[in-house]
Amino acid sequence: MQTKIAYLKGVGPKKAEILLKELGVSTYQDMLNQFPFRYIDRSQIQKVAYINDDTVYYQLVGTISNIKLIGAPRATRATGLFSDETGSIEVVWFRGLKWIKDRFKQGVKYVLFGKASEFNHNFNFVHPEIEEYDPKDPLIGEGLQGVYNTTEKMKDHGLGTRTIAKLQKLILQQVYEYIPETLPKALIKENQLIPRRYAYYEIHLPANNIEIQQATRRLKYEEHFFFQLKMLRNKMHREQAIKGHVFNVVGDYFNGFYKDHLPFPLTNAQKRVIKEIRKDLGSGHQMNRLLQGDVGSGKTIIALFIMLIAKDNQYQSCLMAPTEILATQHYEKISKQLAPLGLRVEFLSGSTKTAKRREILAGLENGDVDILIGTHALIEDNVQFQNLGLVVIDEQHRFGVEQRAKLWRKNTTPPHVLVMTATPIPRTLAMTLYGDLDISVIDELPQGRKPIITKHLYEKDRLRLFGFMQRQIAEGRQVFVVYPLIQESEKMDLLDLMAGYEAMERAFPLPKYAIGIIHGKMKAEVKDYEMQRFIKKETQILLSTTVIEVGIDVPNATVMVIENAERFGLSQLHQLRGRVGRGGNQSYCILMSKYELSNDGRKRLKAMVDTNDGFEIANIDLQLRGPGDIQGTQQSGMLDFKIADIVKDEKLVAYTRNLAMQVLDNDPDLSRPEHVRLAKTVAKLMQRETNWSIIS
Ligand code: ADP
Ligand code: MG
Repeated sequence: MQTKIAYLKGVGPKKAEILLKELGVSTYQDMLNQFPFRYIDRSQIQKVAYINDDTVYYQLVGTISNIKLIGAPRATRATGLFSDETGSIEVVWFRGLKWIKDRFKQGVKYVLFGKASEFNHNFNFVHPEIEEYDPKDPLIGEGLQGVYNTTEKMKDHGLGTRTIAKLQKLILQQVYEYIPETLPKALIKENQLIPRRYAYYEIHLPANNIEIQQATRRLKYEEHFFFQLKMLRNKMHREQAIKGHVFNVVGDYFNGFYKDHLPFPLTNAQKRVIKEIRKDLGSGHQMNRLLQGDVGSGKTIIALFIMLIAKDNQYQSCLMAPTEILATQHYEKISKQLAPLGLRVEFLSGSTKTAKRREILAGLENGDVDILIGTHALIEDNVQFQNLGLVVIDEQHRFGVEQRAKLWRKNTTPPHVLVMTATPIPRTLAMTLYGDLDISVIDELPQGRKPIITKHLYEKDRLRLFGFMQRQIAEGRQVFVVYPLIQESEKMDLLDLMAGYEAMERAFPLPKYAIGIIHGKMKAEVKDYEMQRFIKKETQILLSTTVIEVGIDVPNATVMVIENAERFGLSQLHQLRGRVGRGGNQSYCILMSKYELSNDGRKRLKAMVDTNDGFEIANIDLQLRGPGDIQGTQQSGMLDFKIADIVKDEKLVAYTRNLAMQVLDNDPDLSRPEHVRLAKTVAKLMQRETNWSIIS
């Protein structure tokens, strides 16, 4: 299984290099783990005359003639005719033109395999796979053949999907009996799984659909199971190996605030979550908890309460937010709320002036500062605490694992960590992505919130929109207008924003109205100034790019207008909508879009109009985009599954997680004889990971 792929017949060093670069394949085992993403029936040879679909693969047998180079003086493409007894079809090449004339011989039969493209109502083939026809070809007539991921570069070097299929077959012939079983016998039997060896054979070379199904089931099952087993073991190890600060006192700070300064009654969900966290903090192991709650569910107050518990136990804490604006807002609210308790709360960000910074750093080191709030400037190495006990991270997806690792080094015993996400993620995704964390959920909004009314409008409705905004402003309310900001076209977006600003100025002229504007290219102080003007109601309309996306809390704002709404992702739209509906007044979210929308774009906007529930939105988002695109999963590489699909395999995720829990409950070290295979496989999986796993 560990044999280098270069030694496989028909591969060699050049192709091996390409396989490594393009697919990360270096050994036989790696190759076998490249599974087909679909299958085609290669027992059939189709006829040219019947080509009428650009979505399916065709397999033709015929001759090639009329090869022409097109474009002078340097050819830019080549064309040829592929013919069988029913007709001819054009074949086009854009690369490898130098060799094209020598590649095909007159009168020789070739097999062509590929998808047809439709162009001006005519079909042709662009860079199909073409090989000399050999009636004894092992793949033709074999039944189902896997279609594998390939790249242009691979195809240029003769590594098309058909070749990959052949290589898989060769490998299986050589190593079939060395494919090890990884699951205990009992488990295989109870779950009616096929042996691993069969699964590998059948996934690559199935005789029929039933074989594909049972092979897929076995391999998915195994991948989920080991993923969960590994996550849960990480968690167990961490809990055993890493002691946590024990916060066993709930004292005057917590109780004093609760009794005398609480601005509103807590929701039951908030109370429950505070209890869960309190229990964790007193347990003696280090807390690693994810707090999920829809926008506006009141996560900040929870952070505040547990920072008070830290203080009650003589520990410092810090709260880290992804943007300067959000960090500032947290600082202002929290320092105001805590003022009566006499705590020292400080703010630190990249724009803190040197003198102030020095003062804060000194205060942190001698223990004067109780709570530090800020941006990722908090985790710079020169920020040293006397006794840091707790870190709260708001909107976690902006913080990478390495940054979190830095936090861990801020005290001899790592601080407790509470991560708060604003974008709810579906249960199965949470189990997978954060499988080694504890999870708390706030599933209830504070009382008296009126559901936000969401409408989808088009450009022709703009006057109506302006009229509506004017009426809301006349009632004393404020309006957000958001423009998309997409990195690649930052300039264009800025132009959009400026054009929008001018149109707004005409519709909402001074002195009756005042408009503020915030965008990413502004200095932090300027942004903050504009934000403050809006908070103080000096401006009624705030135009911005998505910098206001996360966390901002301006209860008097009741209208969120999202321009070019079709360009935003669903969770982002939901986030933006969450900026309104925070006070007692009826709030509105207006989605402006162009007429022609992509299918997905239409579904996203419809989902927004249909529901206010963040968890439901998250589910729809997951269906539409797949897990790889969900915020926070891209960089993590954690969801690099070979065959498992956490959207489609929802039940399997929960099932295998339970199973893994049972196994570990009975045999935490996997030391029992019946678990030898499990222990081996887990050890291998762990080996491949860096020690980040313990931190995540
Ligand atoms: P998020 O979970 O999105 O971070 P916040 O913590 O910013 O939400 O809270 C949203 C708003 O709701 C804030 O204005 C906050 O003061 C208010 N709030 C939080 N909890 C309650 C509650 N139990 N009752 C009433 N208002 C609350
Ligand atoms: Mg928040």
